[in-house]
Amino acid sequence: MIKTEELIALSDRYVMSTYKRFPIVLSRGLGVHLWDNDGKQYLDLVGGIAVCALGHSHPRVVEALKRQLELLTHVSNLYHIENQIHLAQLLVENSCLDKVFFCNSGAEANEAAIKLARKYGSEKMEGKYEIITMQDSFHGRTLATVTATGQAKFHAGFAPLPEGFRYVPYNDLAAIEAAVTDRTLAVMVEPIQGEGGVIIPAPGYLPGIRRICDQRGLLMIVDEVQTGMGRTGTLFACEAEEVVPDMITLAKAMGNGFPIGALLAVERIAAAFVPGSHGSTFGGNPLATAAGIAVLETFFDEGILDNCRRVGAYFLERLAELKAKNAKVKEVRGKGLIIALELTVPGADIVLECLKRGLLINCTGGNVLRFVPPLILTKTNVDKAVGILAEVLEA
Ligand SMILES: *Cc1c(COP(=O)(O)O)cnc(C)c1O
Repeated sequence: MIKTEELIALSDRYVMSTYKRFPIVLSRGLGVHLWDNDGKQYLDLVGGIAVCALGHSHPRVVEALKRQLELLTHVSNLYHIENQIHLAQLLVENSCLDKVFFCNSGAEANEAAIKLARKYGSEKMEGKYEIITMQDSFHGRTLATVTATGQAKFHAGFAPLPEGFRYVPYNDLAAIEAAVTDRTLAVMVEPIQGEGGVIIPAPGYLPGIRRICDQRGLLMIVDEVQTGMGRTGTLFACEAEEVVPDMITLAKAMGNGFPIGALLAVERIAAAFVPGSHGSTFGGNPLATAAGIAVLETFFDEGILDNCRRVGAYFLERLAELKAKNAKVKEVRGKGLIIALELTVPGADIVLECLKRGLLINCTGGNVLRFVPPLILTKTNVDKAVGILAEVLEA
């Protein structure tokens, strides 16, 4: 077996350096645990960044993928694909939207939403094209979605960026109203800003956006790439506020690690896409949609959303206790199993110390520890994680 240091040297030599990586190579996973090449075990509170909602190597997902792999992997969207049809039906019947377009990632789902909105705008809204997005948002890395992303650091060096985006502060309805012009087509928003540091808006924010969109005749696009698929305790985060957006985008947890994304839209707007308008070679292929079906069925059969709510609430309680005892903790916030511990000190060293002690966590924005673990997490897992965190924060 190649040694970890040798692998990392090869990585430095051959892999483009787009990520700052921790010096481990993970080679095996089961449930909420991962093992590295040297056999060390980790409790995983990153979950592939909100992807592995059912944990690693979930038997039902593994079985569905194996079965499909032996039957048919790929055929192209020139033909009808049975799994794609079933998954679309599952998504529609469990949401308030009517039609689904499948792709392979969150950026692609948002790219599709932007294109569908513009197509609808060009045909039904006198050519309106401008999309209002939020400061500190995150919508992806393609040119359009990185432009939709309201963070200058992601734009640097990529000019010229596509036109037609305008940024306003998050959690500020008056700012949206003030930014609407006769060019405005849509408002695009995350129910909770994940990459932005688990920023949770005030109750009524999403319904407020819906109201503004209705009053001003705008489309409402909700980016649920991170918050969707049960992360906040309901299948979609906007469900909890009884908001019906015109479009929802999904990806991260949809395939439990198998790449798949989706754009959901209401009928009226979905109709702007006709054969030839948009496409994706791999989007919704038999294998990816087999994973998607297995994930949703397991969610419903095994009470995953209920576990997410219960264990998420317990995790928040335990972190509140930690905050009461430790001055390095500035704030605890979260919903379901998207949780943040904002620190008064930089998070990078804390993350590294946790890793040494067998706990994988993520840091965003410099001082926000973000927990987006598998939704199958148990209270025992939480106790172990909080124990390690307490030890590291006290050091
Ligand atoms: C991760 C993320 C994306 C981008 O998804 P990719 O699959 O990396 O393209 C878009 N929006 C939100 C809210 C995300 O969290």
